[in-house]
Amino acid sequence: ISSELEMMRGLKSETTDGVTVPLYLNTGLISDVMDMGMNEAEGVGLHRTELLYIVRDRFPGEEVQVESYQRMLTMFAPRPVILRTLDIGGDKPLPYFPFTESNPFLGWRGVRISLDHPEIFLTQIRAMIRANIGLNNLRIMLPMITKVSEVEELQMLIQRAHEELLEEGYKAELPPVGVMIEVPSAVYQIDEIARRVDFLSVGTNDLTQYLLAVDRNNPRVAAIFDDMHPVVLRALVQIVEGAATYQRPVSVCGELAGNPLAAVLLLGMGVDSLSMSAGSLLKIKWVIRSYSRARAKSLLQAALRMTDARQVRELMEKSLDEMG
Ligand code: PEP
Ligand code: MG
Repeated sequence: ISSELEMMRGLKSETTDGVTVPLYLNTGLISDVMDMGMNEAEGVGLHRTELLYIVRDRFPGEEVQVESYQRMLTMFAPRPVILRTLDIGGDKPLPYFPFTESNPFLGWRGVRISLDHPEIFLTQIRAMIRANIGLNNLRIMLPMITKVSEVEELQMLIQRAHEELLEEGYKAELPPVGVMIEVPSAVYQIDEIARRVDFLSVGTNDLTQYLLAVDRNNPRVAAIFDDMHPVVLRALVQIVEGAATYQRPVSVCGELAGNPLAAVLLLGMGVDSLSMSAGSLLKIKWVIRSYSRARAKSLLQAALRMTDARQVRELMEKSLDEMG
């Protein structure tokens, strides 16, 4: 089967009825990129910048960050690279920035920390914008958005960083800014959020955790954590519809995008692109090339009527078996 997947190299990620679904890469450290994903992907759909912070013993300064982001942007230029702003807290502590909470996943994480510590956020944004000078393939993405005011306040900080850089004489461009949809409250305000941003990307790992009220890392409840639950699919449909109102592109960058059983359903929803780890790219391309959009839509309709993730899995396993 692996030789069959190897044959996917260089082919377009396109359905049998001609719908293109570009595939992007999820990355964390530069070394992630050094393998096969690099030439197959249309760009980077999620670069988790927190790894740059986690591997050090203090906050990386602006210059260190410029260098790291510039390497990422250069490696893929002119293809787009989405750099996500610092998403610590939850399960990702920084050794040199300790705090304890009894419910870390409901606590101080993602943009909540950025808003309370604008100096950390501004340093990172300045580094991103500086790294992008002369390349222009940067997109900035904000994690863990829960409400509209967070989007507005962070956009103001991004504008401020941009203006400061211009005043300092840098030929800085203001890049497109998008948000992650990974908290249920953001799903229910999807129109209000979509009209304020340039793109949306769904973090199905956190969205599943918060929709099903189940810790994504707790083995005792691991059987309850299932990102193929029909409720997750319904939320995704709502996101795609809300984004369409303002013609904003929607990507999925959670684990679901790299799951062959789920990719067909995402295709059926009309998601614009998928972003995944390098190891999933060829498999997902094979899936996309095996289905028509119409077929995917009818499978999605069936899945949405189900009440259990197990039923959805069985439906999709059967369908993929039929495809060979
Ligand atoms: C997600 O939550 O689905 C996601 C892509 O972000 P992370 O896994 O880094 O929280
Ligand atoms: Mg997340």
